[in-house]
Amino acid sequence: MKKQNIGTCKFCGQEKELIRAHIIPRHFYLNYENETFAAINTKTGNWKQCKTGTYDKNILCAECDNNILGEFDYEAYRILLKDIYNFAEYKYNQNILYHLTEKDFDYTLFRNFFISVLWRASISKTEEFSNINLGPYEDIALNIMQNKIDNDTNFKVLIFKYPKGLENNDIVYLSKIKAKHATYCLSMAGYFILVFINEKNIPLDYIKYYGGFFLNKENLYILESPYFYKKHFQHIYDLKDSSKKLISYLQKKYDKLGHI
Ligand SMILES: [Zn+2]
Repeated sequence: MKKQNIGTCKFCGQEKELIRAHIIPRHFYLNYENETFAAINTKTGNWKQCKTGTYDKNILCAECDNNILGEFDYEAYRILLKDIYNFAEYKYNQNILYHLTEKDFDYTLFRNFFISVLWRASISKTEEFSNINLGPYEDIALNIMQNKIDNDTNFKVLIFKYPKGLENNDIVYLSKIKAKHATYCLSMAGYFILVFINEKNIPLDYIKYYGGFFLNKENLYILESPYFYKKHFQHIYDLKDSSKKLISYLQKKYDKLGHI
């Protein structure tokens, strides 16, 4: 008989059989069907070829993983890997702005996806995510995902995208980019996603250039540019010199929006 793995599910808090829960869902590893991809240990900088994506068998029960977190995962998958291409609003050379409005996406599910990836990484004891620790925000994340609090000032999400088909688009990592300001960068499936844990910590340059493009209830913006790809590990706001046309379009739009 298969040995049972009973423990406390970190989401529902019940004693249950725990399953192999992926920290970043398998579908966001672009080559997951071929069962190889590159994963980076952000602590050591080492690369490794993985077969199934990092999972933790001590954090979640099947019901929570499949039914609750699974719904967040599906909404993110639907938008980021499928429907996004129907929503190009502006194009200049290879720069594209995608824009979905509230009827096109479920804000709560979509936002919860990013919160859940950080939360999973934070509660996990696996080596790959050992430098991800939300501290007091771990409980806030859980409460938001369980719909117990309505909190819009934490977990501000900004989404950048690389053009399709670039060779490093299958790199998957999650790292802390500013130790002091607790900002996380999630790279997966050709996306580069910044999550600012607290809106107070968003640098002024980000607010100036990208303030209108943070995920909010009414709008989901995704900025695509080959330049983001080149700047992979540098500050996003260095982009301003070379994507001027896109940025000026964004700024005009942002002037109209005038808020995060
Ligand atoms: Zn559970």
